Amino acid sequence: MTGISWKSGNISLDIPFSVSGLSTVMLLANPDSCSMVECGDGAASYIYSLYGRKIEKYESLKNVLITHEHLDHAGGLNSLLWLMEVAGRKSELRVITPEGAGGRVHRMASALKDRLHFRVSFIDITRRNRVELDGLVVSSFRTRHRDSTPANRCGDPVPSAGYVIETGGRSILFSGDTGPVKLLDEKCASADLSVIESTWEEPFECDGLHLTVRQAIEYGSLSKDFILVHPLRDREGGIIF
Ligand SMILES: [Zn+2]
Repeated sequence: MTGISWKSGNISLDIPFSVSGLSTVMLLANPDSCSMVECGDGAASYIYSLYGRKIEKYESLKNVLITHEHLDHAGGLNSLLWLMEVAGRKSELRVITPEGAGGRVHRMASALKDRLHFRVSFIDITRRNRVELDGLVVSSFRTRHRDSTPANRCGDPVPSAGYVIETGGRSILFSGDTGPVKLLDEKCASADLSVIESTWEEPFECDGLHLTVRQAIEYGSLSKDFILVHPLRDREGGIIF
């Protein structure tokens, strides 16, 4: 799916791209700052298409929140950091990951560490649980996800989290990748908008890997509004891979 936008008051969410296994990129903006949620491949191209040569705009992107370290959620970080360097960024960028999920993300950013004129700081949000970041209150909750491989389709559990971002009097939930979890009921019920992964059309053999579209709609319907992301099929119903 491509090109979904949501707006409420002075808060906006744009989702230029989200496909399971390929990439998800989302951008949440309030009048003071922007936060990227998930940083899959294409994040830099998207930001460049928005900001172009307006150098000051790059400073407004303050936070990158990543729900887990799978490449379709984190693989665009290096090129995003380099775009910001080329654009002349000077201010700190915060990269937020759940506890235990920062390893690959930290290594990606470390590869550029000596070449950047701005600081990249890492926040392990699960340990701190709730952080205030320039007008945003970010909290996280544990989700259930797995590392599917060709040898083991169901794979081992991986550290993963969902986020709730409160800003401008609105509460926006991002499920990240997850199988069904009890806490998601409660979290969705108090959200103005829930952005829910909806990978499978039919239940899959693995427990705790992803949600079906039906499950995602059930969770999303608990919120005032919801958006389904991370599909495995395109709008015409064709299998993307
Ligand atoms: Zn994943």
